[in-house]
Amino acid sequence: MPQTTPSLPIYLDYAATTPVDERVVSVMQRYLTVDQLFANPASRSHMLGWQAEQAVEQARRQVADSINADPREIVWTSGATEADNLALTGFMRANRERGMHLVTSTIEHKAVVDTAKALETEGFEVTWLTPGRDGRIQPDQLREAMRDDTALVSLMAVHNELGSINDIAALAAVAHEFGAAFHTDAAQAVGRIDLDVAAQQVDLMSLSGHKVYGPKGVGALFVKRHPDIRVEALIHGGGHERGMRSGTLPTHQIAGMGEAFTLMREQATAEQTHITALRQRFLAGLETLGGVYLNSPPDNAVPNILNVAFDGVDGEALLMALRDIAVSTGSACNSASVDPSYVLLGVGVPRRLALASLRFSFGRYTRDGDIDHALHVLHHAVTGLR
Ligand SMILES: *Cc1c(COP(=O)(O)O)cnc(C)c1O
Repeated sequence: MPQTTPSLPIYLDYAATTPVDERVVSVMQRYLTVDQLFANPASRSHMLGWQAEQAVEQARRQVADSINADPREIVWTSGATEADNLALTGFMRANRERGMHLVTSTIEHKAVVDTAKALETEGFEVTWLTPGRDGRIQPDQLREAMRDDTALVSLMAVHNELGSINDIAALAAVAHEFGAAFHTDAAQAVGRIDLDVAAQQVDLMSLSGHKVYGPKGVGALFVKRHPDIRVEALIHGGGHERGMRSGTLPTHQIAGMGEAFTLMREQATAEQTHITALRQRFLAGLETLGGVYLNSPPDNAVPNILNVAFDGVDGEALLMALRDIAVSTGSACNSASVDPSYVLLGVGVPRRLALASLRFSFGRYTRDGDIDHALHVLHHAVTGLR
């Protein structure tokens, strides 16, 4: 059968992943082929190994600088999923004598939710906090959940489905009042809110490359250098990353993540201005539709994520009708199932509206014309389905 080449859909799914910035690609290309710095960064016996190691260490500084950490506090992983696993499982297993209790929330990313559930089967106890309609956990709410045997609190910085922002400094302060450590999943937060592990008193922070215009398959866990903050390795081997995560370091991925974080830092302010304007344009266009409800909170939220319910339509049917616009029903990780998003149900969105909800997320390459086209198609689809 002859194939027609469809035009590329308009991409409004930046919260699921971002394209790799061209400038990041050109940095990554220095570490792959025979005439380049492809050597194993753990090879101590030759110049090529040292040079690859230098690239890894430069990227470690770049990522550390983005969150005001010391480079020695950055542990490379395969992504934020692995960083969350290492933070929760690695910390809880290493701190059994401190306590068997973990506090988190029902609307965390699955990488945290499912890790906490796995810990329950290992004999750890988990308290699941329920956020308010605004997707936030309040410090007082956390205080009530804290116990003498609470070892760790894990609450995300920016929510991937809602865009809501937790006050991580206030939450970390509560954790510390009770002698517990504080972990935050900041995969969506880099370049969108200020991250400063020293000022915010964060002990463990998960980061990802591909939410910040870097490559997929690389991330990091910030582990505060302090005798009380120990994590047990989940992946055993050559003892890389100060024994916390073995495996040959992927120089090109790591250098790419470092460059992506630096670029994000340089243009975060301009980018947020651009994206805020896109959001206003999109919201203004939605208003004329009627029967539209925002699941994302109006305040304390990042501008790049908008979760919207279209009353009277089915989300899956709407998604089909929006074929040339790439958006997500809630979370990309669950897109194979038609269950309503656990996050939307978790913040009290009625099932009917949760099933009629889409997440739009904007980014570096979104233009006014993309928003206008999306609105045009959306009007058509929603009116047709109603
Ligand atoms: C994308 C994402 C993850 C998973 O990151 P990977 O690098 O894809 O493993 C974890 N948490 C949040 C909040 C995310 O948005």
